[in-house]
Amino acid sequence: MKEDLRKMSTRLGADLFGVASPDALNEAPLGHRPTNILPSVKSIIVLGMKMLDAQTDVLPTNGDYFGVSPRQKMVKGHSTFISQELDRAGYALARLLEKQGFKAYHQMASTGGTDERYLTGLLSLKHIAVQAGLGVLGHNSLLITPQYGPRIRLSAVLTDAELQPDALLDKNFCEDCENSCISLCPVVALEKPSHDAPYKINKFACAQYLNTRPTCSVCLKVCHVGNQRIR
Ligand code: SF4
Ligand code: SF4
Repeated sequence: MKEDLRKMSTRLGADLFGVASPDALNEAPLGHRPTNILPSVKSIIVLGMKMLDAQTDVLPTNGDYFGVSPRQKMVKGHSTFISQELDRAGYALARLLEKQGFKAYHQMASTGGTDERYLTGLLSLKHIAVQAGLGVLGHNSLLITPQYGPRIRLSAVLTDAELQPDALLDKNFCEDCENSCISLCPVVALEKPSHDAPYKINKFACAQYLNTRPTCSVCLKVCHVGNQRIR
């Protein structure tokens, strides 16, 4: 069944597909655990869809921090479009599972139940994606995938169907990096983390900044994993 779901997700335009075990996410804050959403959950399917490179590269990186930039509006629109495409794919997978007699909850990319004050989703898609082996967390606090760096959007389907989880990715993209995501953050919301943490972010500072403009995503644009790969 997993391969059928994978093939269907590809047909629907998803670039990445993985399966996580919900057990690994039981340490999430109360109310944000997969079992809080779907008590009978056995598997979590994660889908990723890539943002266009040229549409990401148009983001201003410096000197354009006052007021709303038309470029930020374009990137926000593109990100919203990708999220909607991803949601169509996630919904189709969830419907298929439901038709086969399973429960399926779709954690959408376009809203994600996010609390804009703290940038906290009902479920943390990036943490689920790590458990599904799609990538690792970078110093920019984003999921870094080997294929596309952080230039992707994510959605997830929780289901009580039993699917084989994928292996974790063993990789550290941030080692030996010049940390431009940290140095170019316009509000100094990122710091180099200590060894036991993948990132250190002042979410409040980031959220306050995002509240004043369509998007920022400088830490996404400048990541070398996303913008130096030949693909
Ligand atoms: S720019 Fe470097 S330090 Fe920042 S997330 Fe990308 S790889 Fe990690
Ligand atoms: S989105 Fe912008 S403000 Fe927030 S951490 Fe990234 S670079 Fe900093």
